Amino acid sequence: MKKAVVLLSGGLDSSTTLYYAIDKGFEVRALIFDYGQRHRKEIFAAQAIARSAGVPFYVVRISLPWKGSALLDKAIKVPKKLSHKGSIPPTYVPARNIIFVSFAASFAEAVGARAIFIGANAVDYSGYPDCRPEFFNAFQKTLDKGLKAGVEKRGIRILTPLITLSKADIVRLGRRLKVPFEKTWSCYNKGKKPCGVCDSCRLRAKGFWEADQKH
Ligand code: ZN
Repeated sequence: MKKAVVLLSGGLDSSTTLYYAIDKGFEVRALIFDYGQRHRKEIFAAQAIARSAGVPFYVVRISLPWKGSALLDKAIKVPKKLSHKGSIPPTYVPARNIIFVSFAASFAEAVGARAIFIGANAVDYSGYPDCRPEFFNAFQKTLDKGLKAGVEKRGIRILTPLITLSKADIVRLGRRLKVPFEKTWSCYNKGKKPCGVCDSCRLRAKGFWEADQKH
């Protein structure tokens, strides 16, 4: 069976991507990052999702002592309203997806996987530059040139199945794949319940609301 590495954060998008990769027939390994995010709730959510899906997972701890993001530094407030189109909000984490996809590429090459799945989305998103197709296309070239597997023409593909979907489409896809949404956690803040006002909560709520409007 073809192997794949799936980046799993425990949110709606990455969880749907995990189930999508399994549905496509890949033998999946999940990669979860503990990178100093504001709370550990999303790491526990990611582990619960991986267990529900029955896939092996690794939790990799990365230390970023320089912070530089509202998601890493409690002194910077997480905005309570959606960021404006075209601006990059303070929840952007410097080079996060460059770091994550690099680790995933190392993992994939080490275990002989031919695909890396990432649930990035460039429609209902916060405007992060490392979530856009331009970034993944450019990084694909980096992997083709920089990996042994790449130069030996056994390249590793970066696959972003959600990149052009709306949040409502992602909810519909997740429902079809029976993703246990109740175990996912998207909120940037910690608490018993999602805050409801951060970018991530608002986008998630919009997705569920819109998915329920059109049948
Ligand atoms: Zn929230």
